[in-house]
Amino acid sequence: MHDDDTVVVIDCPDCGIGLIAASEVVLRSCVERDDWQYRARCPHCRCTFVAATTRPAAAAAAAAGATVEYWGLPAELGERPSGAPPFTVDDVTRTVALLADDVALHAALRRLALR
Ligand SMILES: [Zn+2]
Repeated sequence: MHDDDTVVVIDCPDCGIGLIAASEVVLRSCVERDDWQYRARCPHCRCTFVAATTRPAAAAAAAAGATVEYWGLPAELGERPSGAPPFTVDDVTRTVALLADDVALHAALRRLALR
């Protein structure tokens, strides 16, 4: 850490509040949601962790020199079939039963593959 680095507050899940240089923090923002997290390495236990933060705190950390990464939700989320019925409790119950029975699961998968 250089003498002129601005220090930011981090919250290690094991050690609690700590201070590190803003330049050692990576902010992460999901482009589809106003969802901010940061990745940092705790100065006490040396573990790297990810924690949630707020947009104002992220903006302040970015202005102080933290790196910002942007990420997007997987494209597959937009590929769900429209008009398909929603999952029901019966669907979940049948899935749990199939996962407990290899023969029935394989038979069900074979039926899907033949469609
Ligand atoms: Zn720690």
